[in-house]
Amino acid sequence: MVDVLVILDGASEAPGTAGPTLELARTPALDALAAAGDCSWKAVLPPGVPVGSETAIAALLGWVPDGPVDRGAVEAAARGIVVPPGKRAWRVDVGVRPHRHKLVAVSDEEPWIAADVPVRVWPPGAVPPQILDATTVVIGAVGAATGLASLMGARVVIPEGATGRPDSDLGAKLVAARDAIERGAQRVVVHVGGPDEAAHERDREAKIAAIEAADRELIGQLHEIVASVGGRLRVSPDHGCDPQTGMHVAGPVPVVSWSRVTVPR
Ligand SMILES: [Zn+2]
Repeated sequence: MVDVLVILDGASEAPGTAGPTLELARTPALDALAAAGDCSWKAVLPPGVPVGSETAIAALLGWVPDGPVDRGAVEAAARGIVVPPGKRAWRVDVGVRPHRHKLVAVSDEEPWIAADVPVRVWPPGAVPPQILDATTVVIGAVGAATGLASLMGARVVIPEGATGRPDSDLGAKLVAARDAIERGAQRVVVHVGGPDEAAHERDREAKIAAIEAADRELIGQLHEIVASVGGRLRVSPDHGCDPQTGMHVAGPVPVVSWSRVTVPR
């Protein structure tokens, strides 16, 4: 019995939004999963907690933060950067999408970077506790999901070709997920960053295409695998991201959950 979660980053919009991309996208695999399972709206984060992947994915992995999460520590962990005692890691974004560069700086004080493009230094926050172990496998690109998983003690798989963007190699993530299930992982989490990235770039069509790619290349195949070994498959955004504004949206997200219990012979 395996518990599989596909995180479609930023895939939803606020409840009541006219023409949500999840509805506009052609998603036969997700539709079949929903028809055979349950659909519900779920509040991932408590009110007042900043809405971001570093908070919402932490909650989906099992630790619900009560305030900001340290994105610098998360990004350092995703890159295997060890932060010495007395210092901290800072995530610094230089430039704006789609020409944004993500840097990780390790220093004892907030870094100051001179550039003729906008610079954003992410604020410090809580570092997630180590509550997971290698029976949880988290598959994704270098970023929030894999950084959180690493800090929380899960096994992290970053397949070649995983970019966290709409061009990510979802087939490589599927291979990694199948492999983890075959090796007996109790819990497998696959992160798909494309919908969020497209929404931040205010590209509604690209967001729809990213959702359709996940449906076509990942969800139906995982449904079949979980059906054959028994277990649960859920598909959930971590948070919403509005392609109109390019901003994250607070509030509940739509979750599809399906399970099959296999009876040992
Ligand atoms: Zn985002």
